Amino acid sequence: MPIATVNPFTGVTEETFTAHTPEEVQEALARAVRAQRDLRERTFAERAGWLRRAAELLEAEVDTAAAMMTVEMGKPIAQSEAEVRKCAKGMRFYADHAEAMLADTPLADASAVGAGAAWTRWEPLGVVLAVMPWNFPLWQVVRFAAPALMAGNTGLLKHASNVPRSAVYLEDVLSRAGFPEGCFQTLLIGSDAVAAVLDDERVVAVTLTGSEPAGRSVAARAGAGLKKAVLELGGSDPFVVMPSADLDAAVATAVTSRTLNNGQSCVCAKRFVVHTDVYDDFAARFTARMAALVVGDPLDPATDIGPLATRAGRDELAELVQDAVDRGATVLTGGTVPERDGWFYEPTVLADLPEGTRLVMEEAFGPVATLYRVGDRDEALRVANQTSFGLSSSVWTTDADEQDWFTARLEAGAVFVNGMTASFPELPFGGVKASGYGRELAAEGIREFCNLKTVWRA
Ligand code: NAP
Repeated sequence: MPIATVNPFTGVTEETFTAHTPEEVQEALARAVRAQRDLRERTFAERAGWLRRAAELLEAEVDTAAAMMTVEMGKPIAQSEAEVRKCAKGMRFYADHAEAMLADTPLADASAVGAGAAWTRWEPLGVVLAVMPWNFPLWQVVRFAAPALMAGNTGLLKHASNVPRSAVYLEDVLSRAGFPEGCFQTLLIGSDAVAAVLDDERVVAVTLTGSEPAGRSVAARAGAGLKKAVLELGGSDPFVVMPSADLDAAVATAVTSRTLNNGQSCVCAKRFVVHTDVYDDFAARFTARMAALVVGDPLDPATDIGPLATRAGRDELAELVQDAVDRGATVLTGGTVPERDGWFYEPTVLADLPEGTRLVMEEAFGPVATLYRVGDRDEALRVANQTSFGLSSSVWTTDADEQDWFTARLEAGAVFVNGMTASFPELPFGGVKASGYGRELAAEGIREFCNLKTVWRA
């Protein structure tokens, strides 16, 4: 895959980037090690000052940064602006809280271990490789970089090959904000060059956000090298609607959750599991709203749904829908590739999916929703848990017992009750099953790439 910015709205290649040579990668690695030796000696206040400055730069440049993302991967412009602001918020969160999150923890009764004093301290691990996807070109990286840098690690970013401008921009922002040379560098390399970087002894850990196959490949390599890995992989989140739910709120949120980022978010609700008592009502209202969405130029603020980020992604989605239709699924709306330039796919709702349909088990990375009618909560749970994924989940019910029942049994890294799954700097984020392991964000996220050192002093 060439490293290039290709506008998904037009299909035109806007800019092609020259990949870094192996020698340039070696130089970047050496810089990263030198920078880490320096960064780990800096105070939290110094690191926080640079991160706060980076947040200010992002906010000052929100218009250009947002347009850059929208042109690179087709996200509606208002969502790009929101993403830039969220990055600034995430940076400030870690600037404010990292020191407390990584404070020493004393053992209250040191005599129990025969010590005069005993405590634990968090130390940075070193140089961390980040392999990132294109769907949130800035936020996915910032939610790694902000805690990693605050902890005293340095970062090497291998971004998705279709968002090189975003990758280069982030390195530039952090550098202009004051982080010394080598603290955060973008490697312009293809996925075939990742293994060599990961194998290098100077790289101590890796975080990957992306697809399951990429995760399996990188995790295996990290395992062979005994290196820590955090994996944020795909999802096919269930959205369960029970009879007591506020249906207006559920329908409105279902549409937003399914179509955020043109349907290309790991934690978009993808499968709508609806109790039979409210199924027909939900299906009619949800379908009408999906059909009414404005599909068009992502730079136009009136657009709800832009093009998918890549032609390959659009074609894969069309194949998944075709498979369902061929097997007898009912198309309630959409189901076709519109006749126009750009990599569009119509907002689509499918029902009555037969067993064996790929969409029942696989992730739909685009504006395609599947509906499942269920008779009771046990069946709802079975359908919700039936995929190999376990990223997040959403359950809609005003019955307190039912809320607790689902919360305890949904196989997912998160459950949102009467609300839409989202990531917040304040809350840990991550999955179970084939959605990966480890956590980003909150205190758990900053600690993933730290050594918890036990200190025993006589
Ligand atoms: P992808 O193809 O896996 O790419 C993600 C990153 O991994 C890119 O930088 C890619 O580089 C690299 N890569 C791909 N194969 C690799 C390999 N074998 N070895 C090393 N690196 C490899 O995923 P995508 O299509 O960009 O993103 C969509 C997927 O990401 C969806 O499944 C989505 O659910 C998931 N996702 C998960 C989260 C989460 O937090 N759990 C968040 C966002 C997205 P190239 O671009 O050069 O191929």
